[in-house]
Amino acid sequence: MYIEMTNECQMRCRHCAVNSKRVGHGRYISTADAIKALDLRSKNPLLKSVAFSGAESTLHPDFLRILRHAIRLGFGIGVVTNGVNEKIALILAHWARRPIGMRVWLSDDQYHDSAMVSKRVVETYTRLAKLPLKRGAYGVAITGQRHVLTRMGRAVRLKNVQYNNDRCCQGNIAAWYVRTNGMVAVCSCPKSRTIGHIQQIEDFPPTGFGHEINDQENNR
Ligand code: SF4
Repeated sequence: MYIEMTNECQMRCRHCAVNSKRVGHGRYISTADAIKALDLRSKNPLLKSVAFSGAESTLHPDFLRILRHAIRLGFGIGVVTNGVNEKIALILAHWARRPIGMRVWLSDDQYHDSAMVSKRVVETYTRLAKLPLKRGAYGVAITGQRHVLTRMGRAVRLKNVQYNNDRCCQGNIAAWYVRTNGMVAVCSCPKSRTIGHIQQIEDFPPTGFGHEINDQENNR
């Protein structure tokens, strides 16, 4: 499951596939919707993985509260951050070293505006990424690593593409993409079909395939 925490970001990357808005000009998911999505998915142990997406998810005023809830429920967790918020970026790096099943990626490569990120954040992630992990800890990673850069390069060439395979569920029927407005889509693709609002969903209806497109149900 993906939870789109906000569509705002402090950076203005050329390759941004989500067309992020400037801070103060976007939307945020309500804390109640994010918590409901986690509670619902936690009922099925096979579906307990969550990626906090955005644009920049750490901008959400309740980001740490929602993250703690996911940790308490035993989710496998993924977070990508641009690292601009030093305090949260450092908290994430240290939490990801704990045996709680959380992976944190720092967006630090030639495509991001690294000048906005403190030296302390970059050094911390660089150092922690090299250390061995305890069992149950997923650790930190940096997008500047070779295998990730390859994907970033493709995103740059496909600037603001609507269907970016690196973000797409590729038809995974268990995928949920919970948008900032609380609507649950079957994929992150902007025109993917929605299955209802998170506050109205009480079970796991068949979601169909991510590439089924229904323009009338496009809520973005
Ligand atoms: S940091 Fe990520 S979300 Fe923000 S503008 Fe760059 S690519 Fe988009």
